[in-house]
Amino acid sequence: MVLAKCTGCDERCTSKPFNTTFSWRRTDGLRKAYRAVLCVACFTSKVVPLDLDYVSVESLKCPNCGIDTEDDYDAVYITSFIPNYGKRTVESPFCGACAANYRVWVLEHARELEDQVGATGGPYPDVSGDDVLRALGIQIR
Ligand SMILES: [Zn+2]
Ligand SMILES: [Zn+2]
Repeated sequence: MVLAKCTGCDERCTSKPFNTTFSWRRTDGLRKAYRAVLCVACFTSKVVPLDLDYVSVESLKCPNCGIDTEDDYDAVYITSFIPNYGKRTVESPFCGACAANYRVWVLEHARELEDQVGATGGPYPDVSGDDVLRALGIQIR
């Protein structure tokens, strides 16, 4: 039990929470950033499914509905601090509709950051997707 409350489900976290920043660029070009404190369950349901390997795919797909977004995506950038590991950055090429849905959830569960510094930087090394799974207690093949 730790004192922090998960901003996703409003339950007190049973283990170290995942500090997570969501950011995107509005249509007017302004960058917005929001900070959430997520428990393992919320992190697993909202962030892990987006942590996909796009390097080897031929064309980008919306991580939610799977339609081709190679030429027209609406990206959401997620930076998480994985307890005991470090920083993990995920970029998600949502389609317009799914990006809008996802952002509604973020707006309801995260706090707007006034400064732009919180989203990046910090004395944390970048970690791999495997580290994220280890931090979640998921066995890696
Ligand atoms: Zn939660
Ligand atoms: Zn979609």
